[in-house]
Amino acid sequence: MKIHNIMEDIVHAEIENVCAEMLKNPVYQGLCTCAQCRMDVACYVLNRVQPRYFVSSRGLEREGIFSFEKQQNGADLIALIFEAFDKVTHNRRPNHNHENAGESSTVQTMPEHPVFNIPAIIGRVLNGQNFAPMAEISVGLYYEGKLLKMNNKNWQNPCFLNSKTEGTFTFWPDSLPADTVDESHVFEFLLQADAHGFEPLHHIFEVPVVSEHIFADTLSMERTLKLPSLYMFPPEIEP
Ligand SMILES: [Zn+2]
Repeated sequence: MKIHNIMEDIVHAEIENVCAEMLKNPVYQGLCTCAQCRMDVACYVLNRVQPRYFVSSRGLEREGIFSFEKQQNGADLIALIFEAFDKVTHNRRPNHNHENAGESSTVQTMPEHPVFNIPAIIGRVLNGQNFAPMAEISVGLYYEGKLLKMNNKNWQNPCFLNSKTEGTFTFWPDSLPADTVDESHVFEFLLQADAHGFEPLHHIFEVPVVSEHIFADTLSMERTLKLPSLYMFPPEIEP
């Protein structure tokens, strides 16, 4: 069974369209359209739109797990992409060459030491009483008692769940240092959320990772860990 977020395809295609527009129009001269910034824009946007997951099994394509009646419309998406280019340009990665505009958006950077590329972590927080998505709360991802650093500034930890994200959170943690390549390690992470009128949510989970000699700079479903839905309950209800 394979899970695919078709919003990824839609967002990448729209970013290419927006880039083509920006390169033609001098109004957008100040905005960086290099491969790295495009990728950062994709992350920024994908973290702010509803994911649409398709589960393929037994040759059937069906929409699974999440149901979305209100789809983000195209105009909203393009506005969000422009907003992202503005944010990303003003928050440019200092150690990256930003001059490769127009190249494909796959970037791999060689780190000085082997690294554990932690997968992106996605999940959902629901109200355990009525299965409604939790909104207007923050979810924090912790490792060894501290908030885990994200891959770049466009990803937030804690991650704020607004009413548009249908209770979905996404984290893309920064890589962690390894001693050698092909080293296996099981990381233990803690997800924590607090909401008024609910018992605090604590969810501990393990992520096995094998170290590599490259940074995984692209976000893909192959490097995504999907957690089971998490539920929050009021204090008087036993979960
Ligand atoms: Zn750039």
